[in-house]
Amino acid sequence: MEYLDLINRLFVILICLFSMMLGIWVYRANSKLKVNRIFLVMTIAFVGWVGLAYLTDIFTNELIILWSMKLAYASVIISVVSIYFFSVYFPGELPKSLYLSIANKAVIVAGSLVLLFSIFGDFLISGFYTTGQVHNPIFGPLEHVLYFSIVAMTILLMINFFKQYFTIPKQDKTKLAYFLIGLVIFIVSNLIFNILLPIVMGNLAYYQLGSYSVIFFLGFTAYAIAKHSLFGIRAILAGLLVGILAILLFLDAVVLTQEPFLQIIKWVILAVFLFFGYYLVRSVLKEVQLRKSLQHAYADLKQLDTAKSEFISVASHQLRTPLSAIKGYVSMMRKGDYGDVSPDMAEALAVLHESNERLVVLVNNMLNISRIESGRLQFKPRAMAIEPIIANTVNELTPEANGAGVRLIYRKPPAPAREIFADPGLVHEILINLVDNGIKYTQRGGEVVVSLRPAERFLRTEIKDSGIGVVPETVPALFKKFSRGQSGAKMHTNGAGLGLYIVKELVNLHKGQVGVTSAGSGKGSTFWFELPYDIM
Ligand code: ADP
Repeated sequence: MEYLDLINRLFVILICLFSMMLGIWVYRANSKLKVNRIFLVMTIAFVGWVGLAYLTDIFTNELIILWSMKLAYASVIISVVSIYFFSVYFPGELPKSLYLSIANKAVIVAGSLVLLFSIFGDFLISGFYTTGQVHNPIFGPLEHVLYFSIVAMTILLMINFFKQYFTIPKQDKTKLAYFLIGLVIFIVSNLIFNILLPIVMGNLAYYQLGSYSVIFFLGFTAYAIAKHSLFGIRAILAGLLVGILAILLFLDAVVLTQEPFLQIIKWVILAVFLFFGYYLVRSVLKEVQLRKSLQHAYADLKQLDTAKSEFISVASHQLRTPLSAIKGYVSMMRKGDYGDVSPDMAEALAVLHESNERLVVLVNNMLNISRIESGRLQFKPRAMAIEPIIANTVNELTPEANGAGVRLIYRKPPAPAREIFADPGLVHEILINLVDNGIKYTQRGGEVVVSLRPAERFLRTEIKDSGIGVVPETVPALFKKFSRGQSGAKMHTNGAGLGLYIVKELVNLHKGQVGVTSAGSGKGSTFWFELPYDIM
């Protein structure tokens, strides 16, 4: 029994120490934030609660027992009030409202009153009686006021967390989840050890186990608040584990072992354990440092990446206007709107038109990529028929195919295809890229055939050409950014290698699939993509 008491005392001390460490750690991670400050108050209150409840039972002086009991109750009230204010600021500050300001004031007033009554006079706790080793409070006339205010505050704080859930951004929801996991563990173990077991066994013998669980609550919450500055927690946890085990081994060697030979063996085990424990903690510390620096580097890179996307997006927008002007005037000149066009001029204008078109495609692709990567791409899927879009695309690209001496054919299915669930604008973009590639990478006299193949859950569109084909080894790379196949690059020296990357991203957005089959170099290729009939 003494041995158990010793372990219990050890645990209470360790839990209080560790909780205080957590509180100070979070506070120091960013002392300007209100949540962090409230967390420190919450930690102190909980430590007061657990520590004083323990002290109440080990003291023998009646006055001291009474006072530590009163202070323990005071800590409970401060704990509840601080969780309430935590709910106002965590994970984000709740929007100001009349309701909130009234609720805040009510909690402060009620909390302070109950706090005062719990400490001064006999209103709340007027004495105590002892059963076995445990001292139980004798409540004064205000006992029910205490319960009522705790229940009322709990309801108010739950309303706050409920509101938080619906107002916070998605990434903050995991924070709230961590907090709630900790809280549930805390509440459930308190219910078991403070209420259920005492009812079953008839005494409060295990109530400390309920108090131990406070560490989960504080630990999870600290992790949620200061996730990024809290890598160090792992080192503390490792240290704590090594510490607890070392103390237990030490107790075992000194208290529980009488035989000198066994004692020596246990001392040796303890020494070996300490040796490895030291290296364990040190390696965790090292890893913590490493992760910190990696995280900084990652944040910097991310910032650079956003800046780059922003730049490309602005630049592309600015480029589009002059390009449309060039396109318009060149087409009017070719039609003879500004006077007769000599054959030489017509040739020059054709080159001008062609080059301008390439630039338009490039700028559009860059703009699309920056939109995709920054998450600003408009994606509005709906039930739609793909056939009119294929027909449009084929019409649009027929002049280009004619110019290249390639036959462009749309092989209509015998029965109309089922509607798919997709964004029409993006489907058009996908088709333009694939059909355009088919034309680009097929020699004069060849052909490009677009056809549909319905499958069970997807509608498959195929763009089959009789062109230069692809080598199987290069396939995985083709769909990556800035990647160009060797023979492709030879045939068209001025591609940027962005088209297939965009196609893949757009198809992924639809939760579809994209791919290519080819019998090999020079044997043509079939690029295909599958889009779902229904929401996936
Ligand atoms: P770009 O056409 O600007 O190079 P893409 O991303 O559209 O960029 O294509 C990447 C590479 O894939 C091309 O360089 C080419 O080698 C290969 N490719 C694309 N489509 C075809 C095709 N229909 N036949 C053969 N190779 C192709």
